[in-house]
Formats: sequence, C-alpha cells, structure tokens
Amino acid sequence: MYPDKFPDFFDKCKIYTSVLARVLKGMQQGIYPYFRSIEAQSENKVLHKGKWFIQIASNDYLGLSQHPKVKEAAIKAVEKYGSSCCGSRFLNGTFDIHIELEKRLAKFFEKEEALVFSTGFLTNLGTISALSNKNDIIFSDRENHASILDGCRLSFAKTLKFKHNDAKNLEEILKNSDKNKGKFIVVDGVFSMIGNLSNLPSIVSLCNKYSARLMVDEAHGIGVLGKKGRGATEHFNVLDKVDIIMGTFSKSLASLGGFIASSKEVTSFIKHLSREMIFTAALPPASVAAALASLDIIEKEPERISKLWENIKYMQNGFKELGFNIANTQSAIIPVIIGGDESTGKFGKILEDEGIFANVVVSPAVPSGNELIRTSYKATHTKEDLDFVLEKFKKAGRELGIIK
Ligand code: PMP
Repeated sequence: MYPDKFPDFFDKCKIYTSVLARVLKGMQQGIYPYFRSIEAQSENKVLHKGKWFIQIASNDYLGLSQHPKVKEAAIKAVEKYGSSCCGSRFLNGTFDIHIELEKRLAKFFEKEEALVFSTGFLTNLGTISALSNKNDIIFSDRENHASILDGCRLSFAKTLKFKHNDAKNLEEILKNSDKNKGKFIVVDGVFSMIGNLSNLPSIVSLCNKYSARLMVDEAHGIGVLGKKGRGATEHFNVLDKVDIIMGTFSKSLASLGGFIASSKEVTSFIKHLSREMIFTAALPPASVAAALASLDIIEKEPERISKLWENIKYMQNGFKELGFNIANTQSAIIPVIIGGDESTGKFGKILEDEGIFANVVVSPAVPSGNELIRTSYKATHTKEDLDFVLEKFKKAGRELGIIK
C-alpha cells in the first residue's frame, strides 16, 4: 500500500505513488511514451524529434484534420470572427456558427435540438451532472470513459456500476433499485480502449422494461459506424430509442468540442443549468467551423466510411494472422494486448524506434494484466502504411516473444 496521508501538502509529489513510480521507472528505462512532442503532421504521419512516423495513435478516423476544406473553413472563421469567443456561450460567446452547428447536428441525429459544449469531456460532465439529482440513480458501465465517471461523481445522484457490457448484471441492478427514483443509464457506444461496442439492443429493451432513460457517448462511433456514420446507435438501428446522443468533435469531426442531441425539453434544461455550459468559454470559431466542414464531408462522402472499414478489416486480419490478441474489437480502435507494464513499454519502444507512433496503454486505463498497444486507423491510411505497421509489429512481437 502507498501512503495517502502527508504532513506537508506537497509531500505526495515527492513520494512515488503507484502511477508515478511506474512512470518514473519507465522514464529511467527510456520507455516513457507519454507527452511526446509532435513537430508537424501530415495526412498519415507525424514528425517527432525530427523523424517522420506512421501515425496509428490518432482518433482522426476519416483523416479530415488534414482535409483542405476543413482547414480552409477554420482559417476563414478566424478571419471573420477572430481567434476566440472570449466568453461563455451564456453571455457573449454564442456566435451564429454555434447555432448553425447545433441545427446541423440535431438534423443529422434526428433529434429536436443539439447543444454544443467546449470539449467532449465537459459535455459529459455538464450533461450528467445537470440532469441527475439526489432522487435519481445513474447506471454506468464499469468501463465507461473517465468523463462519464466524473460526470456521475459531480452529480448528487447515486451511481451504480454494472459489469462491463453485461445486460444481465444491469438488469439485476435495475430490478433491485428503488422504483420511485429516476433512472438514467449511461454507456459508451464504442469503448475507447478495446474498441468493442455496447450491447445497445439489450440496454434499450431494459430501458423500456424499467422506465429508464438512456444516454450514449458516440465519441468513437461517429464517422465509423452506421451507413451515415452516426455511430453505434445507427449501427444497431436504435437511434430513435436513445434519449441523449453525446459526441465529440475531437475524433472523426477533426476539431475540438462536444455536443448532445436530444429533445428540446432536455437540451433547454441543460443549457440553462449546466455549469460546464455557463461558466466556461465557448468553443472557438475555428473549431466550430472545422466541425461544420467535417460534418459536410461525412454527409456528402459516405464512401470514406467504407474505405475506413477496408483498412480496419485489413488490420484485424493482419494482426490475427500474425498471432496477436486483439480482443473483441468492432471499430477503428484495434488493441494489441501485450500484458504487463514492462513488456508493453518495451513493445512501444521498439515500435517507436522502427517509426511507428502508437499508444501504450497501462492500468488504470485498462484492467491490470491487459496492458496494450492501442492502435487506430484512418480512411486515409494506404496499404503501404498498413503493411509497414504489420511488419514492425511482427518484428517487435517476435523480439519480445509475444508471437512465434
Ligand atoms: N468520451 C469518450 C468515449 C472519449 O474517448 C473521450 C476522449 N477520448 C471523451 C468522451 C472526451 O472527449 P474530448 O477529448 O473531445 O474532450
């Protein structure tokens, strides 16, 4: 056990608590893979320490962050409105393009209204905490994103966690919960580390059976799943059964920011009660314009989603053929399970030496023992890029005895 009581407030910074100790050990071994500085970026590559790497760490699933129309929209917005809104949406920070983006998102997700926040993280904090009070119960998947967990913590509601993607366990908990309390189920549509999908059809029927409301975080589903790229809810054909769709602009929409799409009643309530809406600066014009331009492209060019899926399938098969464990991925996120901090760190270091920019993920982001290299793919990756990645994984896997 590590101490958690310190005579001086800053003593905790000197003592190696569990996470810090692991980080520092990694640093000493030259396998510290975090906060790496990127000096330039092209469609599928990043420049780091003067060397170009193939990028398989980004959530830019459709590769739109480098699209000329998206860049141009951001530049034009800066020219028209300036670099910042310099204030909250509530007061001086609502521009006409925020409203345009909200209208477009509401239409895209077939909901009455949408509400744009300054980040995806704030969207979850602001929505969950504003909506839930002490007479409510929130039901949250154990592996939900940190922003959902923190939204639950910020609210005055009781939070009950159910086993990851386990509808049976969710039902048991629902059955035993107070019938007079408001019930709110919150799940990721795509789980961000393993890339598996939430069991939405079962969850939707549980919502009906137990009169619960449902919010789905589509951060990693938008631009990836469903014919129109509307996410896991579209994939499972339950878009109209989900009360609140939440999404971020920092992935397929190639920007920054977040939103919810729901009924007018719900968005209006959150708009006037969410502290994360009222007491923070509005999403800057360039980010709003980039998200709008990306949404245009997703709507007009759905073939980008098919191209992305060609790449996903190619990599799923490639990793499997090499003998890697890629768990139950069903999205553009393909985890390569290594197991153990040290092996995963070393694996990441070999990849880096070989020109691959991938994410090393250890606990608590994943359960201990399931440490992994999180890889993610874009519609713009070429076959040559993907073959290069597989070749380097083969090399690292053999060197460390992970594959034969
Ligand atoms: N939800 C999920 C599932 C995420 O993965 C993330 C970020 N990775 C967020 C919410 C927060 O979004 P943002 O980074 O855009 O603030």
